[in-house]
Amino acid sequence: MFVFASIETFHTALSDNSTTCKGAVEFYLAEIERQKHLNAFIETFTSEALARAEVLDAELAAGQPLRPLHGVVVGIKDVLCYEGHFVTAASNMLRGYRSPYSATAVQKLVDAGAIIIGRLNCDEYAMGSSNENSAYGPTLNARDNNRVPGGSSGGSAVAVQAGLCMVSLGSDTGGSVRQPADFCGIVGLKPSYGRVSRYGLIAYASSFDQVGIFAGNLADTAKILEVIAGGDAFDSTASSLPVPDYSQALLSPEKKSHRFAYFREAVEHPSLDPEIAKTQLAYFDQLRAAGHQVEAVDFPLLDYIVPTYYVLTTAEASSNLGRFDGVRYGHREQGNLTDLAEFYAHNRSTGFGREVKKRILLGSFVLSAGYYDAYFTKAQQVRQQLCAQTDLIFNSFDAILSPTAPSTAFRFGEKTADPVAMYLEDIYTVFANLTGIPGISLPLFWHSNGMPYGLQVMTNRFQELSLLVLSKTLKPFES
Ligand code: GLN
Repeated sequence: MFVFASIETFHTALSDNSTTCKGAVEFYLAEIERQKHLNAFIETFTSEALARAEVLDAELAAGQPLRPLHGVVVGIKDVLCYEGHFVTAASNMLRGYRSPYSATAVQKLVDAGAIIIGRLNCDEYAMGSSNENSAYGPTLNARDNNRVPGGSSGGSAVAVQAGLCMVSLGSDTGGSVRQPADFCGIVGLKPSYGRVSRYGLIAYASSFDQVGIFAGNLADTAKILEVIAGGDAFDSTASSLPVPDYSQALLSPEKKSHRFAYFREAVEHPSLDPEIAKTQLAYFDQLRAAGHQVEAVDFPLLDYIVPTYYVLTTAEASSNLGRFDGVRYGHREQGNLTDLAEFYAHNRSTGFGREVKKRILLGSFVLSAGYYDAYFTKAQQVRQQLCAQTDLIFNSFDAILSPTAPSTAFRFGEKTADPVAMYLEDIYTVFANLTGIPGISLPLFWHSNGMPYGLQVMTNRFQELSLLVLSKTLKPFES
């Protein structure tokens, strides 16, 4: 039987002929079918993935070298364009829409030898924290099917958690990679804003969005990052800073002592599960005992970051989603409407789901003439202050540690009636998107309720290398 542990071991097996790319694809297709009830994949690219595996196997048989991601089976969130394939942002608005081009991140994976096996379920337009806002129905957490997988990249997280592909791509605007990784007990990385091109990623909030990675371990995360990172002529916000050899850096000996900060208000926050809070502090003690410095810093802005995030992202969303009018893109109501405004209203009313409509309305409101300064300008000022504070923190510390989410994976329906509780899910993750820094969720803890959860680690902008390297020193918590 095919067993996957890491890209490196898979490549060793390919080299000594103990496995094939085709065998891997066949295994995953069978697993996706067997675990269909999880609803992680919206669609598989079956015949195409098999055909590509055969080509990659033939390359090896002909004596050609392994490509960097030779035969690596990847699932992609349904917000990433892949030429000639459907992409719908899990929305009825885009049902039946085919990408005319590929996202840069996807194209780089393909060029490096990866096999894209299908597209993954998520919250509609990446708006949500539980995958309950998908037009295709929710994805189930593989650990406990009564619980959510997190969101918005729930399908991408479960696909890796349940062994339906080797690694997957998601997107993270306010935590959509890190929080589902936390809920599913895997690694989830949101790179710095600008580290990976957003070209071909369906926009939610353009100054926050970033493509992220789900994997079972740090080495695979590093490998995928070094392939997809880098400048891009199609995205002026993608940084052309050189891309370090992250995998190589992970092989270097571990440093004995790092300087970690944590936010006092974060571990004391009333929304945080008391067991997570207690364990977090115990973990900090273990780190101190191991020779690290772990210090509390004051972060009085904590209560403002969720409102700031929702003001700014809904404003950006209301602008970004304006293009889905049923004329240029998207669902078009069949009927004989003659008034253009009515036609647009009809298409949008029937195409978008509730949460998306709510955010478009909220965004239009915070941008409206009478309220612009009170909401949008104010939120931008808070964002600036956060960036300034972040710089100060990283003058004295290598990384910030925090819980990834205030609770473990919750039950379906538990938070749908209370939008504030749902939005508070983002309290620890939106900070990295507001400031543009990278963040990773590491699966280090088990809760007494039987669910896994993570530790979030954040470093300064474009410091993915030190983020990965110091993450390696953070071992699972032993109670
Ligand atoms: N849960 C957050 C939201 O609903 C984050 C979404 C995301 O990162 N795409 O906006």
